[in-house]
Amino acid sequence: MSWERNIVLKSPAEIEMMKQAGHINALALEEVRKNIRPGVSTGELDEIAETLIRDHGGTPAFLNYPGPYPYPATINASINDELVHGLPSKKRELREGDIFSVDCGTVFQGFVGDSAFTVAIGEVSKEAQKLIAVTAEALRLGIDKMRPGNHVGDVSAAIQQYVEANGFHVPREYSGHGVGRQMHEGPQVPNYGLPGQGLVLRPGITIALEPMVLAGTHRTRVLADKWTVASADGSLTAHFEHSVAVNEGEPLILTV
Ligand code: MG
Ligand code: MG
Repeated sequence: MSWERNIVLKSPAEIEMMKQAGHINALALEEVRKNIRPGVSTGELDEIAETLIRDHGGTPAFLNYPGPYPYPATINASINDELVHGLPSKKRELREGDIFSVDCGTVFQGFVGDSAFTVAIGEVSKEAQKLIAVTAEALRLGIDKMRPGNHVGDVSAAIQQYVEANGFHVPREYSGHGVGRQMHEGPQVPNYGLPGQGLVLRPGITIALEPMVLAGTHRTRVLADKWTVASADGSLTAHFEHSVAVNEGEPLILTV
């Protein structure tokens, strides 16, 4: 898919609409977060997200999304070595010591909000704590580069350099992306890249920025369910995401 060809600039009124979609998505993730505990199934968390989104007049953006087969759920529920696109299930319970990544998308009045977080379930290893903290900080650093005149490569490089300086890795096959009337628009925003390369950012560009970080390798594999993407070596992974608008001044985070 060439997302570079599909860049859609948003008007201030459209960005206001995206803030509403993003807000509902943030509420859904917050509701999921409140219910995360050892013993809860990822299928239950999926229902909680779907109910909140529909109660606010939205629809789940991931449900029926085209792929190896239509995506069957509201959230991606990815545990430990699972990086993204994990399938929620009533048979899969969170356990003390897991790290858990939740990704969710909401469509509201024709606009999409897309965001994600990773959280520790109870006590986790020092490495897991560091992985989560580094991934969250990589997102913050990337967002800070989303300013007019900067290149997409400045954003990508900020993420890659910080992650690799901390001894972790970024995948090559999965990227951030433009977001708006479609969940995936241009430009593609990889989590690796070179400063000064790629599209020049300008106000009205809206991007779902999503550092995905793997502890042991940049390589990934797709599990037998055909959706779940995991680290190739079984090492832990983390994922944070916000939908963000490039503004004249500070970048505007839409999924809050
Ligand atoms: Mg997402
Ligand atoms: Mg995304």
